[in-house]
Amino acid sequence: MGRRTVAVVGGGCAGVLATRELLRCTDHRVVMIEPDEPGGGLAYGQARPWHLLNSRAGAMGADKDGFIGFARCGPDEFRPRQEYGAYLREVFATAAREGGDRLDLVKARATGVSDHGVALAGGGVIRADEIVVATGNPAAAQPVAVRDHPDYIADPWRPGVLDAIPSDVPVLLVGAGLTAVDVALTLTEDRHRDAPITAVSRRGQLPLTHTSVAAPPLELSGRAGLDGGAALPERVALRDVVRLVRASAARAGDWRAVVDGLRPHLDELWAAFTPDEQDAFLRHLARPWECHRHRMAPSIGARVGELLAEGRLEVRAGGIRSIEAPRAGGLLVELDAGVQWFGAVVNCAGPGRLPAAAGEFVAGLLRSGRARVGPHGLGLDIDAGGRLVGADGRTGNMWLIGPLRRGARWETTAVPEIRDQAAAVTIPIR
Ligand SMILES: Cc1cc2nc3c(=O)[nH]c(=O)nc-3n(C[C@H](O)[C@H](O)[C@H](O)COP(=O)(O)OP(=O)(O)OC[C@H]3O[C@@H](n4cnc5c(N)ncnc54)[C@H](O)[C@@H]3O)c2cc1C
Repeated sequence: MGRRTVAVVGGGCAGVLATRELLRCTDHRVVMIEPDEPGGGLAYGQARPWHLLNSRAGAMGADKDGFIGFARCGPDEFRPRQEYGAYLREVFATAAREGGDRLDLVKARATGVSDHGVALAGGGVIRADEIVVATGNPAAAQPVAVRDHPDYIADPWRPGVLDAIPSDVPVLLVGAGLTAVDVALTLTEDRHRDAPITAVSRRGQLPLTHTSVAAPPLELSGRAGLDGGAALPERVALRDVVRLVRASAARAGDWRAVVDGLRPHLDELWAAFTPDEQDAFLRHLARPWECHRHRMAPSIGARVGELLAEGRLEVRAGGIRSIEAPRAGGLLVELDAGVQWFGAVVNCAGPGRLPAAAGEFVAGLLRSGRARVGPHGLGLDIDAGGRLVGADGRTGNMWLIGPLRRGARWETTAVPEIRDQAAAVTIPIR
């Protein structure tokens, strides 16, 4: 029998880790389909020198201590995201070298999947026995009712768009999460910027900050457990989780230990919530949870604190009531406090919901019935092993790793989880 072929669609962090795992643990041929350089992707390919990882170096290796060795740093350090991109490229290069002629890189964009294999933009099909989908986040949500205005930046990651904003115009960031922090850092790296930046979000809550040394995670069950000793029951109602987290955080020396202790249990807890509980979580708790869970590196937190203290950055709670485009340029935005003119409005909202936010490839999977939208439109539906579930409820030869698992799972965007997913899907593919 000839060698089996696995196509990996997407060569960001998830695609690189999956390719490495497939080459290491199987005899299959692997074809990575990626239009850009592997190891780039949104988080690490577009980063600027002042953007740091929001996780400690010790958690980020493709294997234990891998990234620490590459960066020659301590496990508690928060290293530049660009450096992590370089590490992923090195991981890919090593995997390619060791995989020899079993790895092919096809520099193209995949447009869909048919019975013949993965279809490529510009024609051509990659035949594959198994397909791993690793195309990253859905497109960004578009919370503002302006689209094609030169002073509205729908995608802050598009190269060059932030550099084109003049430093003497006030800027509005729509959103106050980690993307808004990234954008604020880029805009203020230009020390000549004298016009203020305003970030607006429903709650006006910025991400919280890591401590320089991590407190050990508090175990969810056991002696130090949230429940005071007993093992966790199979299903815990949302209100009980909230109660337990609040009580434990009040008892713990550092609330971060409670959040970090909860992390390995989040998928189980999420899956056991009723659809109404999941809805309630998304509406009322997801954002505060993200602020506590996805934290800024200490030095980034300090820099943001300075910007706030200097009045160069302001964070407001509330919504955008209306937005108009005056002839003279810029945008007139009605915030809760009144109408204000901004020279640029930058969309810093998180990923949008499916099917609207599906890119061409995922939209093709949905149209052909090879995938279906998962819970709450946050991602695609998968079975317990990570196989895509089709419109008819059946699974086939397609696997999903990375942020598009959200909804079916909760904790699925950070490197440690993606690394585990890459390892887990490789086992049945073997
Ligand atoms: C700004 C930012 C900072 C982050 N910082 C951290 C951090 O510090 N620590 C941490 O643990 N996690 C962090 N994350 C989360 C996590 O690491 C990323 O979400 C992770 O990079 C996801 O990897 P991915 O490969 O799924 O997606 P991406 O890295 O976005 O890669 C997707 C790849 O798929 C390719 N692709 C897309 N469509 C197609 C197609 N049709 N055909 C072929 N290729 C396609 C793209 O070109 C891209 O290379 C961060 C995320 C973001 C957005």
